[in-house]
Amino acid sequence: MSVKAFYQYLEFLKLAGIQDIFIKEPEPIVEAVEEGCVDKARILHDLSQKYANCQKCGLSQGRINLVYGQGNADAKLMLIGEGPGANENKTGQAFVGAAGELLDRQLHAIKLTRQEVYIANIVKCQPPYNRNPEANEVQACMPYLLEQIEIVAPQIILLLGRVPAHAILETTESISRLRLRRHLFREIPVYVTYHPAALLRDPKYRVPTWEDLQRVRDHYFSL
Ligand code: SF4
Repeated sequence: MSVKAFYQYLEFLKLAGIQDIFIKEPEPIVEAVEEGCVDKARILHDLSQKYANCQKCGLSQGRINLVYGQGNADAKLMLIGEGPGANENKTGQAFVGAAGELLDRQLHAIKLTRQEVYIANIVKCQPPYNRNPEANEVQACMPYLLEQIEIVAPQIILLLGRVPAHAILETTESISRLRLRRHLFREIPVYVTYHPAALLRDPKYRVPTWEDLQRVRDHYFSL
């Protein structure tokens, strides 16, 4: 049952004579998205402001900027990375620096631009020394990502690296195996590939990543 339908049901119960129901109006954001009549970019922007001072996990300690996500709020393709690095923490933008430039080139190679996709991360604040986010940090931040997925409603998700692959697909399987098949997350087709930073560290990932991107490209342009 949708949130809106749930509130309508509660209203119905009240009208039917059950008086001990106290209805708090739903969050305008949730209601508006469900009605499909709002500016999704504005909603995402408002949420990024709302969470800017989040203290739900220890990663808030090193935060200069929350890196919420960016791109086309109506994107058919959503990319999900791991978390902000130092450059992202300084700028508040996702995928800047060398990994970001490589990501731009990868998108260009499949005839897409950053402006056409939506980019988010598993955690919104930089882990210290760029370590992997810990399970409790992933868990604390996951509701924000799930909300983004719900709002953008992409038709394809591409997971960049092990951290997002394991967090979203709830597995510990290796990337080298996960990338070989298409997955589903909440009925959305999901592809897995290596993080751009991994390609910068080790060129052996270039060929398999290009194979993965071609699969995403073919799917994207068949929509
Ligand atoms: S990583 Fe996510 S949950 Fe943790 S403080 Fe930052 S925004 Fe909040």
